[in-house]
Amino acid sequence: ASHRPFNFSAGPSAVPEEVLTQVAAEMLDWQGSGMSVMEMSHRGKEFGSIHEAALRNLRELLQIPPNFRILFMQGGGLGENAIVPMNLSRGGAVDVVVTGAWSRKSAGEARRYADVKIAADGANAAGRHESIPPAASWQIRPDASYVHLCSNETIDGLEFQHLPDLKALGSDAPLVVDCSSHILSRTVDWSKVGLAFAGAQKNVGPAGLTLVVVREDLLGHALPICPSAFNYQTVADNNSMFNTPPTFAIYVAGLVFEWIQRFQYAGKTGLAALEQRNIDKATLLYQTLDASSLFENRVAPEARSRMNIPFFLRDERLNDDFLAGARARGLLQLKGHKSVGGMRASIYNAMPLEGVQALVSYLKDFETQHG
Ligand code: PMP
Repeated sequence: ASHRPFNFSAGPSAVPEEVLTQVAAEMLDWQGSGMSVMEMSHRGKEFGSIHEAALRNLRELLQIPPNFRILFMQGGGLGENAIVPMNLSRGGAVDVVVTGAWSRKSAGEARRYADVKIAADGANAAGRHESIPPAASWQIRPDASYVHLCSNETIDGLEFQHLPDLKALGSDAPLVVDCSSHILSRTVDWSKVGLAFAGAQKNVGPAGLTLVVVREDLLGHALPICPSAFNYQTVADNNSMFNTPPTFAIYVAGLVFEWIQRFQYAGKTGLAALEQRNIDKATLLYQTLDASSLFENRVAPEARSRMNIPFFLRDERLNDDFLAGARARGLLQLKGHKSVGGMRASIYNAMPLEGVQALVSYLKDFETQHG
């Protein structure tokens, strides 16, 4: 491996180096075709094989059941905040569980298309999200067309460790999950999900590709105002080729899927191995923060994200020194989101354990110097 810096960006974020190397090697001539993938017709046999392999491998990795369709779309997470209500709400009731900045944004956008109610809001008196309201406390309306939640809040650093069982809560509404910032970091219980969406630019590959996994019975209910290119039924009927899909991003995502399939760690292979490494990385970082008298993470332990770990220096005057020292050690993009301040370490799938170890030793050294 080379000596690239460790990149803690929240997204777009680090891509496995093996994948970048392969993309570089295939840039001018993909597998003897004489073309770069970005120069190929999306309807040709070369791209067709790339597209089909990506679909097959994603389905296998996440164990997506046959009654779900996988759509490769554009528009990102914020695009889906409008596309989901246009397709699923039928103009009626939409209930949103607010656990941080991204679910709050989803509620706001859905209001343009549907009658939105906040089923629960986890903000504390200071307006911060540091815990997830228990599912039993959610107010779900009997006529809700769907219930939306964000299963990993990228800015606040909260993650659902289990998806709620809406049926057990007495609701037949499908659950819509924004899993943009932790897709493919862990397994998914599809029996609890109606639709899941994710922008690709964190755990999957380049920005520009949006993954949608949707249960078949939810297709075909789009509002008349819904653009054809964003109508799930139309996209599904055309195998994500109603319009030109983001071909190069799909290609890179496909390489990331193969990287996950090969991935080995702690005697495991594939997604299970990656999940184990994600647990180990997050555990190491949270333990270090909790043991520190200079740094702190404020999220309740059971709600802490494995992917996005915001932390604060108790003396905020040291922030600039901390960031400069980090950069000097090759630890990049640790500055927290502007709405929260402080620091944030995003440790997605592509972050090796060594990257978190390097961050942890920097935290300890910095504390020794300033403690
Ligand atoms: N949802 C979540 C959980 C996100 O982390 C982000 C991006 N950081 C978005 C939605 C918005 O995605 P995009 O910028 O692709 O629209």
